[in-house]
Amino acid sequence: MQLAKFYAMTQYTALAAHIKADANLPTEYGNFRMRVFVDDEGSEHSVLSVGLDDSSTVPIVRIHSECLTGDAFGSLKCDCGPQLRASMARIQEEGSGAILYMRQEGRGIGLEAKIRAYALQDRGLDTLDANLALNLPADARKYSFCAEMLTSVGVDEVRLMTNNPLKVRGLRSNGITVHERVPHLVGRCKLNDHYLSTKQKRMGHLIPEQA
Ligand SMILES: [Zn+2]
Repeated sequence: MQLAKFYAMTQYTALAAHIKADANLPTEYGNFRMRVFVDDEGSEHSVLSVGLDDSSTVPIVRIHSECLTGDAFGSLKCDCGPQLRASMARIQEEGSGAILYMRQEGRGIGLEAKIRAYALQDRGLDTLDANLALNLPADARKYSFCAEMLTSVGVDEVRLMTNNPLKVRGLRSNGITVHERVPHLVGRCKLNDHYLSTKQKRMGHLIPEQA
């Protein structure tokens, strides 16, 4: 019995101790605190935050899925790069908030599969049909680890910066209170217009026709 209790306690401690590294990160948008987490599959995710100790305000939070092509290469096929940079600026402006940077490339299907889907898009398929043609799910992301990361940095209530109702539901069903959905509309251009229309018409994203 004593042993069982001990294991229960260590397990509890492990669940609360997901933070693997913690440091300051000065950026061109301002100073952030960066905390790194590793999930059960060994993927490294991070929380980039400002002012979470201020309990007088509900922090503004963005869940951003890694997009190598958009975040690092400035791809115009999607709106990820501008969305990431706008959320960094917005969080600095508000003084309390966080970005959960999740290593789930291509809505969770991985880089190789994403670029294969791009090849199909080069031949005329839209973002959803390309995934379906490769037998890949349209959206393979999971939100339970996001909720665990938020809990670990002391956040259980958020205002969520997103156009995707799935993210709101994903956090709520994992115990996080979402007070408000803050629309996040930046980076629309001629090249990604069709991609954004597909997200709106076929994947339930709340994006006005002319963003
Ligand atoms: Zn992208």
